[in-house]
Amino acid sequence: MVLRCRDLGETDRLVTLYSREHGKQQAVARGVRRAASRRAGSLQPFAHLRCLVARGRTLDVIAQVELLNSFAKLRDDLTLLTWAGHILELVDAAAGEGDRGASFPLLLAALHLLAGGADPELTARAFELRHLSAAGLEPELTICCRCGGPLGDQGELRFNPAEGGAICAACGKTSGDRLLRRGILATMLYLKDADLRQVDRLVVSARDRAELEALLRAYLEFHLDRPLRSLAFLDTLREQEH
Ligand SMILES: [Zn+2]
Repeated sequence: MVLRCRDLGETDRLVTLYSREHGKQQAVARGVRRAASRRAGSLQPFAHLRCLVARGRTLDVIAQVELLNSFAKLRDDLTLLTWAGHILELVDAAAGEGDRGASFPLLLAALHLLAGGADPELTARAFELRHLSAAGLEPELTICCRCGGPLGDQGELRFNPAEGGAICAACGKTSGDRLLRRGILATMLYLKDADLRQVDRLVVSARDRAELEALLRAYLEFHLDRPLRSLAFLDTLREQEH
């Protein structure tokens, strides 16, 4: 899968790939920006490829490319494209040295669902939770991450991104805590564990979607240590709709 590309020199393109076998890697596509190159269309974000990468002295080189799916449908609609871009951005951000492609099947499944008309927001939320697990950054949602005790069924729960997840009612409130309504917690647990194809059967109100996004965004931005550009762009798109 092509995560991103940038121009290199006069005619080349530097491509960031994510594969089942090697995780994230960079390789150069030589001569791909020449007018006659037939590979240019295959080497762009979202392209699912079968490719042969040759070891180079400084940079690996893409020797052969077979396009399996360009996911052209994702480009039909700017909002859909931005949600899909958010998914690629997360893979790019959280694929560390030890990542040998653990999120690849999930990435491919999520893009197929988005292209097939699934709810992009819930699909992306489910992807966020599962990708965090694959990257070893899963939020704690079943016990209190401050005292290690059960979350119980009484009192107000909190969520603290820096501490790693849910906080029980008995632990009280500190400055970084956000309110975690029990309905939001249940939605998170469903999105994390249900079959990805079933997540958009869930009915989630606009208010719950906004709270879910705020909590997960704070968690992702803290643990990936960067602002999420696609989500910021989605804010702009939403403002324009109103
Ligand atoms: Zn606690």
